[in-house]
Amino acid sequence: MPNQTLWGHPKGLYILFFTEMWERFSYYGMRAIFILYLTAKTTEANAGLGWDKVSALELYGWYTMMVYVMSVPGGLLADRWLGQKKAVMLGGFLLCIGHFILAFDEVWAFYTGIVFIILGVGALKPNISSMVGGLYQYGDLKRDSAFTIFYIGINIGAFAAPLLVGYVGEVINWHYGFGLAGIGMALGQIVYLWGQKYLTTVGNFVPAQRDSGTNKKVPLTSIEKDRMIVLILSFIIVIVFWGAYEQAGGLMNLYARDKIDRVMFGFEVPTSFLQALHAFYVILLGVPVAYFWTKWRKKGRESSSLFKMGIGTIITGFGFLLLAGAAIETASSLDGKASIYWMFGAYLLHVVGELSISPVALSFITKLAPLKYASLMMGAYFMVSGVGNKVAGYVGEAAQSAGELTIFMGVLIFCVSFGLLLVLFVKKLKKLTHGADDIDPKVVIVEAE
Ligand code: GLN
Repeated sequence: MPNQTLWGHPKGLYILFFTEMWERFSYYGMRAIFILYLTAKTTEANAGLGWDKVSALELYGWYTMMVYVMSVPGGLLADRWLGQKKAVMLGGFLLCIGHFILAFDEVWAFYTGIVFIILGVGALKPNISSMVGGLYQYGDLKRDSAFTIFYIGINIGAFAAPLLVGYVGEVINWHYGFGLAGIGMALGQIVYLWGQKYLTTVGNFVPAQRDSGTNKKVPLTSIEKDRMIVLILSFIIVIVFWGAYEQAGGLMNLYARDKIDRVMFGFEVPTSFLQALHAFYVILLGVPVAYFWTKWRKKGRESSSLFKMGIGTIITGFGFLLLAGAAIETASSLDGKASIYWMFGAYLLHVVGELSISPVALSFITKLAPLKYASLMMGAYFMVSGVGNKVAGYVGEAAQSAGELTIFMGVLIFCVSFGLLLVLFVKKLKKLTHGADDIDPKVVIVEAE
């Protein structure tokens, strides 16, 4: 059974696809209404917690940071004790419990629920991603397309969630929304339990092999030191990027609620619906953007990972120019609201940036680090993206005193200057990679072995 294939891929891939699709459905569903629930007045028909925006954005930052930071202990848990398959199972159970606890209208339930979700995502997210890779032998060309398929699953979940959970939570009752996210996670867990028969060969616990000592002989060479510098730089890029992008669920969500005219064709679009735009654009543009970069490289143009990341940061920055446009319109319009199309455009540019940074950074980091750190690097990548989430929270908090226009302009200037510096110094920085970026990651893996 584990060797059965469907459409050219092991059936296990589809089990992981649907499990992660539902896990992301629950995460992004919850995230779409999280800040709206915290800041909704206690006197409204659909009562929230009545928090001020600064406190809500502070918690939003901590929460979304911790979710990803826990990927590091989550990866260790799998490597040292459980194996990835059981760690995903445990994570799934914790997530079901967490989301269902959030369905209770009690303050204790709220805090307990988010702790379970943090632990659950930490155990599930990095390990399910590693399992996708584990379904293929080294060198199997299908591995890359498997990750693409898997990424589509992530975004189908992330697209549907704000529409369904968002609608139920924002329009009917917040807690029904959280409960619906829990039902999604439960469906994911059922798929995963049912699909175990297709996953017998992957994600099993392998006791760590003792270091034979041969690796210890190799001091950090000057090449490795140089590569370490670029690695740290790429982590900074990841933080800057997610720090800008992840304002979506926080500041931009609140902005859309309070300062955007959301009436379209006579229908008021619920605020949380806009949270579906990222995933929608990823599904729409994933292939064209990848195609663009391949064509670009074939023309012999500069196409190193650092260059793409620099360009991606600049494009993301320009998304904030559109938001600044919205802030200017808000100030001059009679009802104090700006057109919804600013948001459509801003999210579009953020996603073009994402597609030039997120997959590129992940593969770049794995190319620079030796094989024995490969899983650790996957965890480290999620961890730094978590730090980016916290930065996004801080930026949102700052907007509450400095004003949105100042903050949107500030993020624009910062991202564009940072990206331009990368592009300007790309040749120098590339030297520090000592060719790691030009070769196939599998070759680097063999080298490291
Ligand atoms: N959108 C991706 C996901 O949810 C990215 C997560 C990240 O790297 N922070 O899986």
